[in-house]
Amino acid sequence: MQEPHKEEQRIPASLEIAHDVSNRLIRFRTTLQRMAYFEQKPTRGRTGHFDLATDRGTVAVALRRHPRARNYTLKVGAPAGAPVLTMPVRGSLAEARAFLDRNAGWLVRQIGRLPEARPIVDGAAIPLRGVPHAIRQTGARRGTVAVEDGADAPVLLVAGRPEHLRRRVIDFFRREARRDLDQAVMKHAMVLGVRVKAIRLRDQTTRWGSCSSAGTLSFSWRLIMAPPFILDYLAAHEVAHLHEMNHGPRFWHLVESICPQTGQARAWLNKEGPRLHAIGA
Ligand SMILES: [Zn+2]
Repeated sequence: MQEPHKEEQRIPASLEIAHDVSNRLIRFRTTLQRMAYFEQKPTRGRTGHFDLATDRGTVAVALRRHPRARNYTLKVGAPAGAPVLTMPVRGSLAEARAFLDRNAGWLVRQIGRLPEARPIVDGAAIPLRGVPHAIRQTGARRGTVAVEDGADAPVLLVAGRPEHLRRRVIDFFRREARRDLDQAVMKHAMVLGVRVKAIRLRDQTTRWGSCSSAGTLSFSWRLIMAPPFILDYLAAHEVAHLHEMNHGPRFWHLVESICPQTGQARAWLNKEGPRLHAIGA
């Protein structure tokens, strides 16, 4: 039985770690004054949503009960995604609603701050390893995605039907991410003398990478859009967890010893990370 690293199951309230998109996940908490009596049978996971009336229209706020949640937390997630209110399993819906209403102004401001969604379409410019690439649909029936020099910027030539363009670009980016991550992880694992069991690619909006104690590292494929030192830092970060399953001083010392650009990479992710999540979302 594979014991997941704590990070894997964190609730949003404790997501303030380096590789999450923390500046997009700002939240409020209120401590439960008392163990509120359940108004309904506590269930895990989704429990519906609240409608919040704002001057921009009605915003649906998804409601989740979480077994380890001790507070009410409000999170603004993926660009197109609904905000989420997480509550303790035994919290009350009335308290959750009051909490939401108290923080409605904040929530509306956060939604206004989210980076605009950037669809992956013909003519759009999407970064690959930090360099903008112009997407061009070739109309060719065969072939997949190829990179070519363009007049101003490199061009991503995409074959196939228009409705498959987004999928093809993402598949291509995932393959490129896989290649770079395999190399970077291998390099850092050799330096630290640790064994990596598997590398997985994901598309989570809440974190850039994670590590299970069984030795499986997971990464967001979106890292391939960032400059290469960002991907290298994430690889170093997750590999270092195979030594130190925490975010203590020893862990950070270890990361910095194999990745001297750790500080710059964390600052970059904080500032630019949300933009990467807005691409093709
Ligand atoms: Zn970590």
